[in-house]
Amino acid sequence: MDESKFVVVANRLPVDRTVKPDGTAGWRRSPGGLVTAIGPVMRSRDGAWLGWAGAAGEKLDPFTEEEMALVPVPLSAEEVELYYEGFSNTTLWPLYHDVIAPPVYKRRYWDAYVAVNRRFAEAAAGVAAQGAMVWVQDYQLQLVPAMLRQLRPDLRIGFFLHIPFPPPELFHQLPWRRQIIEGLLGADLVGFQRPGAAANFLRLARRLLGVRTQGSCAYVEDRVVRAQAFPISVDVGELARLTARPTVWRRAAEVHAGLSASKILLGVDRLDYTKGIRQRLQAFGELLEDGELKPGEAVFVQIATPSRERVEQYQLLRDEIEQLVGRINGMHASIGTPVIHYMHASYDREELAALYLAADVMVVTPLRDGMNLVAKEYVACRADLGGALVLSEFAGAADELRQAYLVNPYDIDGLKRSLLAAIRAEPEDVARRMRAMRRRVTQHDVDRWAQDFLTALEVAPAP
Ligand code: UDP
Repeated sequence: MDESKFVVVANRLPVDRTVKPDGTAGWRRSPGGLVTAIGPVMRSRDGAWLGWAGAAGEKLDPFTEEEMALVPVPLSAEEVELYYEGFSNTTLWPLYHDVIAPPVYKRRYWDAYVAVNRRFAEAAAGVAAQGAMVWVQDYQLQLVPAMLRQLRPDLRIGFFLHIPFPPPELFHQLPWRRQIIEGLLGADLVGFQRPGAAANFLRLARRLLGVRTQGSCAYVEDRVVRAQAFPISVDVGELARLTARPTVWRRAAEVHAGLSASKILLGVDRLDYTKGIRQRLQAFGELLEDGELKPGEAVFVQIATPSRERVEQYQLLRDEIEQLVGRINGMHASIGTPVIHYMHASYDREELAALYLAADVMVVTPLRDGMNLVAKEYVACRADLGGALVLSEFAGAADELRQAYLVNPYDIDGLKRSLLAAIRAEPEDVARRMRAMRRRVTQHDVDRWAQDFLTALEVAPAP
């Protein structure tokens, strides 16, 4: 394969395996937002994308799919367990999300994380052309920037963290805290979702490594590392095209007609303990119990996409949520009319767009979330200016969507008040809020995010 001037390094490749109608194996573009964001830049710059292809133990040669050069990085079954499920999802994920679940610190996890990060760095060093731009993605690969710089000091290296970055008080728990900060400081530009996260990182660089910082810059030996917020967004054009389809509107009307309540509340989340699903269902259940809401007045549709099912905390969470749904329905449903419709399943973009259009109130209540794209997707879909958004102040999206009903999801009484206010809001008020939120999301869509980051990386001082 030729060397590339632009290289994306991510845990996963942007394609999933499929079986074609004729029975042969093939690839299909993954539904994720990252490929939507970076795909166009990849094609225009003739880029290469490095990542794991998704099957443990499998070794694949580079291939081209969706007009992108893809470079598979192999992972053994043990590495999937220790680096991915272990260090990434059982150590870093809870640590970076306010320790909502207790992080697990195991040296075996860390050793695998180092080894896998090194493999990614070596693979990137092997495909990047002289002076190329390399963009490393997310918490699974925080050591790659420094490892890659050692191998290839000629490269321009950017890193973007899609999840929150914790304050020093929490980050200090990590036994390998210095190594992570050193890893990130190998980049020329480190991007975060929120300004507070960039400030946390700079503070840690000072405290743990004695690095001098000024404004958004850290001075590491003879280099300048910039840390800044680049809030990610959604593909507004794609969602506008989807919601322009009559079939999508018909489906939305069908969903509304099929539910015997005047207002539909909707939650769409991966089944993750960071999403605050319990808090929102509890608030809804209490409103019914208090008699402030009548069962015919509102119905809750909760989609909980299966996620990380091999990790124990996720199995426990599923039991907890399903018990709660059962309890609330047991108390308030009648035959044929549950008050909560709970689906443990994944839906495609078209069905989600129809659900967004059908929902009178979108309920997004994470206890901590890097951005939360669902909140922005809802806004992007509501060109009709209908629909109220209840949004946690602990989601990155709350920085931009100031006209949402902002809530602290730990405050169940406050959450109940906001749910009621959103359910009972006057249409003019709903439209006024939605118009303001749409202005923000349409002006700052995902293309703008990628352009802003890459422009900032391009103007970074040459290595
Ligand atoms: N999503 C989907 N099908 C589903 C549920 C979710 O395609 O059944 C998509 C959703 O549209 C959004 C993404 O998954 O683009 C979730 O992103 P978000 O930032 O809200 O949360 P994350 O899962 O990344 O923590």
